[in-house]
Amino acid sequence: MRFHYCPDCGSKLKLRQIGDEGDTPWCPQCQRPLFDQFYTCIIALVVNDRDEAAILRQGYISQQYGNLVSGYMVPGETAEECARREIEEELGLCVSGLELVKTWWMEQRELLMIGFSPGLRTRS
Ligand SMILES: [Zn+2]
Repeated sequence: MRFHYCPDCGSKLKLRQIGDEGDTPWCPQCQRPLFDQFYTCIIALVVNDRDEAAILRQGYISQQYGNLVSGYMVPGETAEECARREIEEELGLCVSGLELVKTWWMEQRELLMIGFSPGLRTRS
């Protein structure tokens, strides 16, 4: 999301040079920058002792394909906490370890995905 108006006071934003950030939307009334916002979510490949991966059927994501555990981060939550929460919500499992693999930027949805490793081990 790119701000054109301040969400707090409604003033039209102006571009202002801020350090090495370059031209940044700036609220002249509140005297603060409003950086572009985007969603962040986790995706995790959960594997059991037989190397079987958890593939979910979630019609609101796809009618055709299954998907891995994933979910949006909420304010105040780390990526690891989000991954643990989503795995527990979607699979009912507590994970004992998480390994960050990679992050992906999904341009079409302006979404940052944070991927955790297939080396996840579960405990009941
Ligand atoms: Zn403002």
